[in-house]
Amino acid sequence: MREFGTTVFAEMTALAVRTGAINLGQGFPDTDGPPAMLERAAAAIGGGLNQYPPGPGMPELRQAVAEHRKEHYGLVYDPDGEVLVTVGATEAVSATVLALCEAGDEVLVFEPYYDSYAAAIALAGAVRRPVALRPVDGRFAFDPDELRAAVGPRTRAILVNSPHNPTGTVFTRDELAAIAALCQEHDLIAITDEVYEHLTYDGVEHVPLATFPGMRERTVMISSAGKTFSATGWKTGWVCAPPALTTAVQSVKQFLTFTASAPWQVAVAYALRHELDWVAALRRDLSAKRDRLMEGLSAAGFGVLRPSGTYFVQTDIRPLGFADGIAFTRELPELAGVVAIPTQVFYDRPEFGRHFVRFAFCKRDEVIDEAATRLAALGRR
Ligand code: PMP
Ligand code: GLN
Repeated sequence: MREFGTTVFAEMTALAVRTGAINLGQGFPDTDGPPAMLERAAAAIGGGLNQYPPGPGMPELRQAVAEHRKEHYGLVYDPDGEVLVTVGATEAVSATVLALCEAGDEVLVFEPYYDSYAAAIALAGAVRRPVALRPVDGRFAFDPDELRAAVGPRTRAILVNSPHNPTGTVFTRDELAAIAALCQEHDLIAITDEVYEHLTYDGVEHVPLATFPGMRERTVMISSAGKTFSATGWKTGWVCAPPALTTAVQSVKQFLTFTASAPWQVAVAYALRHELDWVAALRRDLSAKRDRLMEGLSAAGFGVLRPSGTYFVQTDIRPLGFADGIAFTRELPELAGVVAIPTQVFYDRPEFGRHFVRFAFCKRDEVIDEAATRLAALGRR
């Protein structure tokens, strides 16, 4: 694992702490989730819910997840055997890849990809096959022929993250249909990371890959409470999949962490059942924050791409006279008192992303405004 070093998120957050810069790097909100959800967690701890919960997760959370999947997407999962609670989506992805991939198996990933995917694939001794997302008409998209060409005899699975971090792309029905067709043609397992499922904008809707014909049976659907309820520190996620796949993932998960923390589980179960209006308001809020940050970044002179989902905006730094995102983000605290994430670290072929930098907009308006004011200095250099 030597090549993985420290995650870029930890590195950039440490840089922000060290320099006192505004942290628009690591994606975490600077306000709390629904108050009643927080009270449930506190009450659970006070009420003695402090010992190991069952390995698959607390029944009330598994039930709430199953209800939510059914109401939102029409997907029916049995809370006993088809839902598994994990320590965030991160553990869900790692346990799934470890459970389903043998050494030498290939896993397709869209690059830029979320950093833990590469590590999970490496831990399994599997091999990643990147398929590029490239800016086309203002959004990052893949070429279906390139996707098709990436499949080989050892391809076992495809990791699909939509809404997509770090590009903000939400895959369209046509894109998902192309992925679904490929999975069926080549008997691939789809591992879907849907942690931003509720955070889409401009009327764009997230569609789970598992809703496509023939896909539920071959999809491990992953999500988490972190983004939906602004509780990234709770690390409470879940897997929904047919019984054989869920059992396989659980058999690995039990030796990674055995079980996920109890108090958050009951609080998240409550939130899934009673706080979806709060989530709708969060989504409206984030949409306005996205516009606010995009405006500031454009005014500062960045090339700005409009994301349809997630917490993140991609920018092109070339109009400001910079060429390399890593050098740029290392200098940025000194240049402008802001921290951002260089997109190229999420590629196997960093040359595709060299000039892109990611900024997070899940911050209070005054923080976004202050960052925009500081970044405006870049154009005046
Ligand atoms: N997948 C993606 C695409 C993410 O952006 C993140 C970070 N929130 C995760 C997974 C990890 O989620 P969790 O904190 O629930 O482990
Ligand atoms: N998902 C968060 C991001 O993309 C970071 C999570 C982490 O620090 N591992 O910014």
